[in-house]
Amino acid sequence: MSKLVSVGSFCPNEECVEYGETDRGNIIRYGKTGEGRQRFQCKTCKRTFNERKGTLFYNRKTEEKDILECLALLAEGVRISSIHRAKGIKEDTILSFLREAAIHAEQIEAILMDDYHISRAEIDGLWTYVGRKEAEKTE
Ligand SMILES: [Zn+2]
Repeated sequence: MSKLVSVGSFCPNEECVEYGETDRGNIIRYGKTGEGRQRFQCKTCKRTFNERKGTLFYNRKTEEKDILECLALLAEGVRISSIHRAKGIKEDTILSFLREAAIHAEQIEAILMDDYHISRAEIDGLWTYVGRKEAEKTE
């Protein structure tokens, strides 16, 4: 499985001079969060962050794997109501994954194609689907 971002190898603070730079040696382990997630600190800007900060799905309760599976199923044309029944995730939540995914489209496309064998056409369908759902909301 390819990882979206190797957390702990770069600083996710956009104001930091080392922002996004990997393997600079500026990131150190900094204990654990209350939920048991590894916490890191950037020695350059002194900010701390946890495993999920800087990844696509920061602050989401759902596992990244489940989110990607939802997106893969949607891309394959599975109805959102069926995914909701199969996975027990609210339809609104699934739509929010999709919206967030659209922001990080390039990363998501690479993962869906490499790890989930989703085709280019199916991915295009996915983004069309996001657009359509957004249009429905504003009507
Ligand atoms: Zn930093």
